[in-house]
Amino acid sequence: MNKQHIFSAFSSTSGLYPKLGNDESQGGTSMKIKAAVVRETKKPYSIEELELEPPKEKEVLVKWAYTGYCCTDLHILSGELPFAPPLVGGHEAAGIVEDVGPGVTKVKKGDHVVGAWMAPCGECPQCRRGWGHLCTGTAGYFGEGTMFDGTSRIKDKDGKMVRHSFFVSAFSTYSVVPEISAIPIRKDFPLEYACLMGCCISTGWGAVTNTAQVLTGDSVAVFGLGGVGLMALRASRLRHANPIIAIDKEEDKEDLAREFGATHFLCNSKENPVQRILEVTGGGAQFVFEATGDPGAIMQAWWSLGIRGKLVVLGITPFDRTTDLPLFLLPIHEKSVVGSLYGSMCAADIDIPRLVDMAMLNDLKIDRLVTNKFSLKDINEVAEKMNKRQIRGRWVLKWD
Ligand SMILES: [Zn+2]
Ligand SMILES: [Zn+2]
Repeated sequence: MNKQHIFSAFSSTSGLYPKLGNDESQGGTSMKIKAAVVRETKKPYSIEELELEPPKEKEVLVKWAYTGYCCTDLHILSGELPFAPPLVGGHEAAGIVEDVGPGVTKVKKGDHVVGAWMAPCGECPQCRRGWGHLCTGTAGYFGEGTMFDGTSRIKDKDGKMVRHSFFVSAFSTYSVVPEISAIPIRKDFPLEYACLMGCCISTGWGAVTNTAQVLTGDSVAVFGLGGVGLMALRASRLRHANPIIAIDKEEDKEDLAREFGATHFLCNSKENPVQRILEVTGGGAQFVFEATGDPGAIMQAWWSLGIRGKLVVLGITPFDRTTDLPLFLLPIHEKSVVGSLYGSMCAADIDIPRLVDMAMLNDLKIDRLVTNKFSLKDINEVAEKMNKRQIRGRWVLKWD
């Protein structure tokens, strides 16, 4: 599988990696922003001052307050995902609306918003079936890193265009996002926690409640205890699943895992967890959530399934990696393997405010998820720590 093949799956209408040249500016005054730019994969972020054009029709200018560092950001930096630099990443963010373009009706200046990295068009077959998170109408722009008119609002000091990323581009003081990606939320919810609604909370929560639809008493195992995995544990606990087995390579994640709802903890860098999972669940888990995207962990997750068990893959596997799942037991035990994208949220503008309400009741333990705050100048150190698996919980970039 190559990058071209993956993008043709995104969209049959958009060109691949269109050449970003010098843009003819379309009116309005550009503003200066500061951002972490992926100039080249497998290299550190370049901290740069950039120019940001004002929002066009149905677009919103957001001043970011906090941006979470998600492992997908590291995958983009490492070149493991098919996105071409130069780009401004950062897709898990919350901030305040600074300005709106013509035709914007859903938000206004001063609103608090969460950036949503899926921007459903509302008109494609997927959107019309209620699968807005799988929208194919805007997927080409997602892949190419542009707004819906096929151009970018960001350019560098030489006037060369820089791509957006995941529509949010929040490793940046400000960005322009499609209106549908700016989800308004109540103002009494702290923005430092709200940022996580944009990715790890929605993804982990939705995988359990929407994709898998875990019920009381179901047995659950969760591989990988980053932000997504911890939220999958929390959702399983609030659904009264039992047992809830957490698996991670790092032993020091045990206390956090138990706090979020795990009844058991296994360290898969010390032992193969499959036998213990089969014992604890009496033959295999009904639902196994794989939140790392690591082919080895996916194999362990597969072998941990019970009869009619469902493996839910949330982690993003590098685009050129494969696994050797032995499918013999797929029909024999009626097992299934399903993917879950963005928590199978049909509409982020409905689901995210509901999750915010739950967080206000302290049901989600979101304050325990944010374990550190950092500044833009430290982003390369944070990427390095993420790469070395030295981050527990979620670290968020605090903007001034
Ligand atoms: Zn993410
Ligand atoms: Zn659509």
